[in-house]
Amino acid sequence: MKLNYLAFAIPIFLLFTALEYWVARKQQKEDYFHFDRSIVNISIGIAERLADLFTVGIFYYFYTYIHTHFALFDIKPSILLWLALFLCTDFVWYWYHRLAHEISLLWSVHVVHHQSEDFNYTVSARITVFQALVRVVFWSVLPWIGFPPEMITSILLIHGAYPFFIHTRTIGKLGILEYILVTPSHHRVHHASDEHYLDKNYGDVLIIWDKIFGTFVEEKEEPHYGLTKPLNSHSFLWQHFHFILELMYTVKHTQGWGNKIKIIFGGPDLVPEYVREKLEQRFLFNKSVNASGIRFKNYVIWQIGSVLLSLFLVILFEHQISLSLQIGVALLIVLTLINCGAILEQRTWVFYLEYTRLATATLFAYIYFGPTSIVVFGSLFVVTLICFFTWFEKQYLRLIYGSAVAS
Ligand SMILES: [Zn+2]
Ligand SMILES: [Zn+2]
Repeated sequence: MKLNYLAFAIPIFLLFTALEYWVARKQQKEDYFHFDRSIVNISIGIAERLADLFTVGIFYYFYTYIHTHFALFDIKPSILLWLALFLCTDFVWYWYHRLAHEISLLWSVHVVHHQSEDFNYTVSARITVFQALVRVVFWSVLPWIGFPPEMITSILLIHGAYPFFIHTRTIGKLGILEYILVTPSHHRVHHASDEHYLDKNYGDVLIIWDKIFGTFVEEKEEPHYGLTKPLNSHSFLWQHFHFILELMYTVKHTQGWGNKIKIIFGGPDLVPEYVREKLEQRFLFNKSVNASGIRFKNYVIWQIGSVLLSLFLVILFEHQISLSLQIGVALLIVLTLINCGAILEQRTWVFYLEYTRLATATLFAYIYFGPTSIVVFGSLFVVTLICFFTWFEKQYLRLIYGSAVAS
């Protein structure tokens, strides 16, 4: 049976994160991990892994197309050329990453990586499919030079795995390695919101590019992490799209085409700070409750746990299950992630989302398993829910948020 062993990245990720959590507790650094921030970070990573299921094949096809039609040189794998490819990818990464900070259009997708005010292994999961798309455009220079797609995808695995290990506060400086590699210390600076650390240390594996192009700064004191203007929202969708909306708003309210283009391709500081507040008022609902107990925490853990398990199984058995089932599971997972973000923000409308999720599950059960007892059960449940809507809503909110929802 053909299995996709990349699925094991999930348990390995969880294992290392648990280890880091344990080390942090031992070092008595309780503030290294915050429950809600970790859940949000992992949620974003789950969505990206999920999107990978559908995009990796397309990316490979894209590299192959460029390689067959436009390759400048006919490159055959050899030790020297593997080394050359490694240097090329790291160099391309540096410029991809630097421009992602310097051009608003690219920042609108990279910003998601920088929203967390924690800095631990869960932050490394903050990659989105939109970031992956932008990166593919940059990587396409590699098959154009002539590197075969198989070589590129192998080397990109290293570029995917290495950054995980540099997202930690538990590891100090690493001696001589600090001169060559991007270390946790260097990357802490990159995630800082302190003025003198801003827009520094863009490297992925090698720190030499930052030293050559003048963007290197050494970590002197412990940074503050996150955006210069913190997001203060756990909403899954808001985190993904807030800056795109801010950018669109600014462009719309700017006079003249030349100025509009300047906003899109200029630095993110050209987007005024007040725009976010304006959009928050429009898009973020303010109806929330103050939850007390830990019941909702358990509820979220249970949800994220089952999502991680489903994701692991879907990736592992990717070649055995049909595309329609993959899409069904993907849809349910995304709804669950939106749901978890809303629960963390203690939104009362989360009940309606649960209702949507149930309807989607029933629909896919019908499509996949046919008109079996699941459908009868599902429909019955839906009818009951409609009849006792208000009662169910109250009970549900009471169940996850505790006594905070009294009326
Ligand atoms: Zn960055
Ligand atoms: Zn990072």
